Amino acid sequence: MSDPTRRRMLGQVAAVSALPILAACGTTAVRPSDGRVFSLGVASGEPLPDGIVIWTRLARDPLNGGGMPNTPLKVRWEVSADENMTEVVRSGVATARPEFAHAIHVPVHGLQPHRWYWYRFHAQGETSTVGRTRTAAAGGLDRFRFAFASCQHYEMGFYTAYEHMAREDLDLVVHLGDYIYEYGGKFGRPRQHDAFETTTLDEYRNRYALYKMDPALQAAHAAFPWLVAWDDHEVQNNYANDRDQRGETSPKMFRQRRAAAYQAYYEHMPLRPAAQPRGADMQLYRRYEFGNLLTLNMLDTRQYRTDQPCGDKKRPLCDAALAPDATMLGLTQERWLHDGLSRDRAAWSVLGQQVPLMEREIHRHGEVLFDMDKWDGYVAARNRLLGHVADIGKRNLIVLSGDVHAAWVGDLRQDFKKAYLPVLGTEFICTSISSKGDGWDSKKGPRRIVDMNPHMRFYNGRRGYTRCEVSPRQWRADYRTVPYVTRPGAPVKTEATFVVARGRPGVEIA
Ligand code: FE
Ligand code: CA
Repeated sequence: MSDPTRRRMLGQVAAVSALPILAACGTTAVRPSDGRVFSLGVASGEPLPDGIVIWTRLARDPLNGGGMPNTPLKVRWEVSADENMTEVVRSGVATARPEFAHAIHVPVHGLQPHRWYWYRFHAQGETSTVGRTRTAAAGGLDRFRFAFASCQHYEMGFYTAYEHMAREDLDLVVHLGDYIYEYGGKFGRPRQHDAFETTTLDEYRNRYALYKMDPALQAAHAAFPWLVAWDDHEVQNNYANDRDQRGETSPKMFRQRRAAAYQAYYEHMPLRPAAQPRGADMQLYRRYEFGNLLTLNMLDTRQYRTDQPCGDKKRPLCDAALAPDATMLGLTQERWLHDGLSRDRAAWSVLGQQVPLMEREIHRHGEVLFDMDKWDGYVAARNRLLGHVADIGKRNLIVLSGDVHAAWVGDLRQDFKKAYLPVLGTEFICTSISSKGDGWDSKKGPRRIVDMNPHMRFYNGRRGYTRCEVSPRQWRADYRTVPYVTRPGAPVKTEATFVVARGRPGVEIA
């Protein structure tokens, strides 16, 4: 890319993000929606070399069901090769239907690979803000930059990390789940949910609307295409397949809640129309390629897993975790993943998933504990995955995870206790955007866990996101953190940088 192009592009990042970020200053609990039809912003995602999905939802009264008439409404869309929307290359009319909360997901085709596009929508005499997006590369690619993030509990803090992310120079954002939290509101927090835990479609919709009204989140969506996957809180904390957290409702009842939650998720994410749920089922696992540089396997570790074999808290390991029928991915997804890894010829094979894969042995009061909602509770399933990676001689695996509201970095081995075994890949776990509030410095707390687990290289308890720069020779990961989220305006810094050299598995501190 030529320098003037890059400069123009960077200028555009500022232009796209400046307005919403200014609006963020002084944000309190809930911003009035002021009746605009595009109150939830715009988004794009699922990048292909020739296309992209663009998204919006019409909602004049977003916190109360949307406030739109109970009829289909026309939305005109435009995709342009320039930021002023003067070189429109694709346009059309989509129908926003009340049964999908007047959300639209437009798969745009016929675009050029690896270049920026701008898009906007018109409806009801109003025009949306302009979003910027980027198609995937085809063939050779020598540099790819993206950020990944997870866990954005609205009540626990401001989305300052997204303000900073929106200003980065990225090709993509990857979100690994906990986009919303289902919990009812608690007083005394920086921001507020409404009173009740979400269980119905209306309640989930209103919750997404609350989150999506955040100007910093809107800015990050408007600046880059996203690839998203859910974790547990999009439905309920630590649920597993059709089992609720505490076994309080029957699987049949829980599937009704899951259907409502999955539909609201689909409605609010820039997903392909093919992802549309059927009842309580929705296929979210999928694979995206970025030239011959990286293949990103987006996994679903919630919908098909067996109930946590040893329970869902920190506990000593039980025999059931070793039983071969314990599964994290379900048989079909597991086979799809293994086949994909066997066939993949990209420089880097990447898993975008939710709960930590690496072993995390915790010593507490003389007991050895593991966090059983994670792959640590599904040892047989993890052994199958890492065993397959070892069998096919893969030496370029990178795993991206979220969920635990802290940053961890470590190497993956077939048996974590045997440091003489070859390293099979590296796992980067991102911290949360806001969940658990301000956090703490790495000197304290679970720092000890890193000492107990020789494959671990890093722990940090601050909020933020992980920025990756990928080239054919090297994977680089910068842990970007903010010192606080319980009030707005925190600066961002790079807390630590790690590199993996291709062909030489094992992470190094840069
Ligand atoms: Fe979370
Ligand atoms: Ca989670």
